[in-house]
Amino acid sequence: MQTSYVNSGFESEGVSVLECSPSLRHDLSRADCRSLSPKLEQFLASRPETPFLALDLEQVRNKFLELQREFPQAAIHYAVKANPSPEIIQLLATLGSRFDIASRYELDLCLSQGVPAAWVSYGNTVKKDLDIAYAFGCGVRFFAFDSEAELEKLGRHAPGAGVHCRLLSQGKSADWPLSRKFGCDLVMAYELLLKSCDLGLNPLGVSFHVGSQQTDPQQWVEPMQQAAELYRQLRRQGIELEWINIGGGLPATYQATLPPFSHYAQTIQRALQQSFGATPPHMMIEPGRFLVADAGVIQSEVILVAHKSREDVRRWVYLDIGKFGGLAETMDECIKYRLRTHRDGPTGSVILAGPTCDSADVLYEKTSYELPLDLAIGDRIEILSAGAYTSSYASVGFNGFPPLRTYCL
Ligand SMILES: *Cc1c(COP(=O)(O)O)cnc(C)c1O
Repeated sequence: MQTSYVNSGFESEGVSVLECSPSLRHDLSRADCRSLSPKLEQFLASRPETPFLALDLEQVRNKFLELQREFPQAAIHYAVKANPSPEIIQLLATLGSRFDIASRYELDLCLSQGVPAAWVSYGNTVKKDLDIAYAFGCGVRFFAFDSEAELEKLGRHAPGAGVHCRLLSQGKSADWPLSRKFGCDLVMAYELLLKSCDLGLNPLGVSFHVGSQQTDPQQWVEPMQQAAELYRQLRRQGIELEWINIGGGLPATYQATLPPFSHYAQTIQRALQQSFGATPPHMMIEPGRFLVADAGVIQSEVILVAHKSREDVRRWVYLDIGKFGGLAETMDECIKYRLRTHRDGPTGSVILAGPTCDSADVLYEKTSYELPLDLAIGDRIEILSAGAYTSSYASVGFNGFPPLRTYCL
């Protein structure tokens, strides 16, 4: 069977077309385009019912080890929300990973997989009193906050716990920005970290998140410098902050060609040294997407190929997975997945849509995607690097479709 790799250009954004051909410039992308791991290929060839996410745990392991190599000094907390499969939690726990949770339910999941509560940090800055008390009761001792009222909740329900103050971030150059909703400005961070002592809490430092799928390594530099300045000011008040939490944001491999990962790591490490000098704080890092995205592939099936009129040149291709079945990050066409089909002929422009009776369930219309002209109903289409924010975003039964099945191999 012939395999072709189909990619789109970014005409609207002036980014060059990425083609998975021998002429490809970028080593990282070339490796990813060649093929999936033998384990994944073999599983896909057995043609389980679509749609599903298959994930190669060996690749998650390799990503974790790569991250550890680049950040040997860091405490790595996997952001569970990226993919909460118990197999992933278990694997990472055996590798010595720690965990970042968004809710009491993710805490239960980690505990059920044998993760000690002391390895868990509660990174969501929006928590119910009850959930803080529950987590503290279980033994969680790291919490994030970004407002006075949340800090007071922590003072009441997690006495003596270590706390991180999250800084506002622009989310510039991130394909999935998280700006505005989270964080506070530097003046407020200064005041709240001071106040945390009065409340009987243990101020650890600041956290920030430069936006998910952050493509520009420079975006880590400015918050690091701001943090260093803040730490100097607080030192004058007798507060020694020993941690810095640089959040997530490390990118996965989608359509755009990115610098190699080592470049991100070196930029971040250099920024840490230059901002803090000889005695930098301990680093906490919270990767989600980076650890799991590239290890996963979604296999889907073409339900329909249609034209809207006799003159219509652009085909509509309807898949059996859409925004509600796990591809929520195609919202505003933010995340541009690489697709693969098993046909090798000439390609033509398509609009890609999901299977539900909701007109919002269109995946790519502005972004130009090309698929083989002889693409037919029943053909399988593979959505590459789909291990993050897919199974965890799938609806429980919109239009009656079941949540995304996940196979960890
Ligand atoms: C979602 C999240 C992460 C993970 O972000 P990625 O971009 O997937 O790496 C890390 N930290 C916090 C606080 C988060 O909310």
